Amino acid sequence: MRLSVKAPAKINLALDVLYKREDNYHEVKMVMTTIDLADRIEIMELSEDVIEIDSSDGFIPVDKRNLAYKAAELLKSRFGIRKGCKIEITKIIPVAAGLAGGSSDCAAVLKGLNQMWKLGLTTQELAELGAEIGSDVSFCVYGGTALATGRGEIIEKIASPLPVWVVLAKPPISVSTSDIYQKLDVNTCRHPDVEQMVKALEQKNYALMCEQLGNSLEDVTMKYYPKVAKIKQQMEKLGADGVLMSGSGPTVFGLTRFENKKHRLVNGLRGFCNQVYAVRLIG
Ligand code: ATP
Repeated sequence: MRLSVKAPAKINLALDVLYKREDNYHEVKMVMTTIDLADRIEIMELSEDVIEIDSSDGFIPVDKRNLAYKAAELLKSRFGIRKGCKIEITKIIPVAAGLAGGSSDCAAVLKGLNQMWKLGLTTQELAELGAEIGSDVSFCVYGGTALATGRGEIIEKIASPLPVWVVLAKPPISVSTSDIYQKLDVNTCRHPDVEQMVKALEQKNYALMCEQLGNSLEDVTMKYYPKVAKIKQQMEKLGADGVLMSGSGPTVFGLTRFENKKHRLVNGLRGFCNQVYAVRLIG
């Protein structure tokens, strides 16, 4: 048996870091939504008891460290599965970019193997397993648009955003999420109003959605990587309705509802930044 699963990226429309917990995780409150930029995952059943990862992307590990490997390993050990699988990952989502590419690959493998090995797990059960591997995996299992709380693993689905173009610009920098969290001071950082973002989405109020974009981690990443701030300024200058860094960065996204504005943003960013994408919100 062979099956193909899409692993879409996410962006954070709002990301508030509330405080550092005793278990060393940070308590967060964020709104995440899915975008039409996806890795492709092909899973093939193997009769031997092995997990193989194959990827043409030289930037990701193809061993036990790969989050797709971890997903297969967890299901095998938890459900006593003696069969194996080969997982081919075609990477489209930039790596270590704040777009949850690895978490989405992980979620896609959990869903794909649930089907292949006929485990009968519900979405919630898959999301709970995913949370054992990484905080963003739960959201990626659900997809769509959601409010994520706890360390990011408690998911409440919310209304999908309006049809909007998302222009993404990723500078050639890899940002370590844990490094940015370590440098963050929760007492002095900005705290976006996440409830207002939820309200904007529920009311399908595009102006309010743009106004409420906010990310507690943005100033920290910008301090250490000034190029991120420059990209944000450039997007604002080019007329995006709202601009924000996603996750811990370094990807910055700009929103517009108009096709011609989307072209203006893409053209104005090329030459300024080497990786530029224009995709739709599909949350
Ligand atoms: P997040 O937004 O959830 O913080 P990210 O987009 O910043 O994630 P990823 O692309 O998921 O970051 O990569 C983070 C790290 O995970 C990288 O150092 C990478 O080597 C590792 N990794 C493991 N498996 C994968 C995978 N399947 N795809 C991408 N990265 C992976």
